[in-house]
Amino acid sequence: MDEINSEVTVNELRAELIDTVKALRVQVVNQNSLSVGIDLRRKQQQTIKKEKTGSISKEEQLKIACQEMSSCQLCPLGKTRKNLVFGTGNPEAKIVFVGEAPGADEDEQGLPFVGRAGQLLTDIIKAMGYQRKDVYICNILKCRPPGNRNPQPDEISMCEPFLKKQLQIISPEIICALGSFAAKTLLNTEIPISALRGRFHSYEGIKLMPTYHPAYLLRNPSAKKQVWEDVQMIMKEV
Ligand code: SF4
Repeated sequence: MDEINSEVTVNELRAELIDTVKALRVQVVNQNSLSVGIDLRRKQQQTIKKEKTGSISKEEQLKIACQEMSSCQLCPLGKTRKNLVFGTGNPEAKIVFVGEAPGADEDEQGLPFVGRAGQLLTDIIKAMGYQRKDVYICNILKCRPPGNRNPQPDEISMCEPFLKKQLQIISPEIICALGSFAAKTLLNTEIPISALRGRFHSYEGIKLMPTYHPAYLLRNPSAKKQVWEDVQMIMKEV
C-alpha cells in the first residue's frame, strides 16, 4: 500500500514539475514578444520625434509643405489658376529671392520666374556668380492673379503663411525681396520700394535686401544700376 502511495506521489510530483516548466516557457516567450513590441514602439516614437524636430531633410520638408497646399482654395485665385507655383531651387540655399506672384508663363509651367522677367533674374543671379539651382526662388502668392493684376490684401494674408513656412524650412542667410509687394509684405510696411532698397532690413532674424522687380527693370532699364548695387551688397554678405 505504501509502495502504491509513494508511486502516486512521485507521479504527481512529476506532473507538477512538467506543468511548472511549461508555465515558465510560456512566460519567457511572452516576455520576448513583449520586448519586441516595446522595441517597435520605441522606433516609431523615435521616427515621429525625428520628424517633429525637423531632422528630416529640408528637401523632404519642402516636398511635404508643397503637397499639403497643392489643392489650396483658401482664396479665389485657387479657382482661376492653371498650376500652383510653389517655388524652385536649392533647399539649402543661402539666398532666397521672393517675388510678387506668378504670371502667365509661370502659371502655365508651374515654375516661378520663367518668362522675360525670369530670364532677367537668371542673368542677375549669374552675374552674382551663381546658377538658378544654387539659390531658391518663390513668390508671395502661389497662384496667378487673373490678367496679372496686383495681389489683393486678403489674398496676400491667406497665402503668406505658406511663404513663412518655406522660409522657415530653408532658413537662408539672405532674402532678396523683388519689388514693392514682396518688400512691403515681408517688412509689413507701406514705405515705397525706392526708399526701402539699398540697405539691409530684418525679416524674422534674416537679413533682407529689397530691390526692384525684374519686370520693373524691363520697363525701366536705367534702374539696373541700383539693382546691381543692391546685389553687390548681398554678395559681400554671403
Ligand atoms: S494664392 Fe495662395 S492662398 Fe490663394 S489659393 Fe493660391 S495657394 Fe491658396
